[in-house]
Amino acid sequence: MRKKVIAGNWKMNNNIPATVQLISELKNKLSGSDVLVIVCPPFTSLESAKNQLAGSEIKLGAQNMYFEDNGAFTGEISADMLVSAGCEYVILGHSERRTIFQESNDLINKKIKKALSSGLKPIFCVGETLSEREENITEKVVELQVKEGLAGIPESDLSNIIIAYEPVWAIGTGKVATPQQAQDVHEFIRNLVQKLYNAEIASNVVIQYGGSVKPDNAAELLSQKDIDGALVGGACLKADSFVSIIKSA
Ligand code: PEP
Repeated sequence: MRKKVIAGNWKMNNNIPATVQLISELKNKLSGSDVLVIVCPPFTSLESAKNQLAGSEIKLGAQNMYFEDNGAFTGEISADMLVSAGCEYVILGHSERRTIFQESNDLINKKIKKALSSGLKPIFCVGETLSEREENITEKVVELQVKEGLAGIPESDLSNIIIAYEPVWAIGTGKVATPQQAQDVHEFIRNLVQKLYNAEIASNVVIQYGGSVKPDNAAELLSQKDIDGALVGGACLKADSFVSIIKSA
């Protein structure tokens, strides 16, 4: 039985005081839940978030990292830095990183490997653009992203990876995939994981949906057989809407 996982990707929002405020509201509104909840604030807020999360079940994640250990990589953050700031999770391969910052499958694969070897659990994002969906190549695109992103990653690491299916056309646009569209791609990804690894790993791997998840569409998406949670952008910035999505799970 897979646990539901709801993660909030704060993107480039919330300075330190706003972080403290949002986390204290979340803590007040969330009491004892079977759902694994992760918040991913910006780098500058991680330590304050960690302090504010003390004594709570909510986990901390970052939104990106670089794969090198240290050195002349101006502006980058290492896995070890994230661990020392209190992170257990890191979002990798988000479509905004792929498109705005030209991240390739190969770079994302290097980051996933470094995250895992440092004890961080990647939330590995994949998804097609609108033109790729219209060309009917969604499965081909997602297959390549999953295969290349997971290349060389041993079976023993799969229990530490969350896959997030995020159709690019649904991110921040208010256009959510229908539950059936999302379920179809989730099932495709689970079957692909079975081909790449085995049936047990495939049935245990957590696959989140992301893309305009809101309180009013979360329950239906999350009731699909292969949808194990949500990666939430816009709706995670207000405690009420994020908590409502968590309650739907
Ligand atoms: C995201 O950024 O991962 C995301 C899913 O954003 P939104 O929920 O705003 O579409």
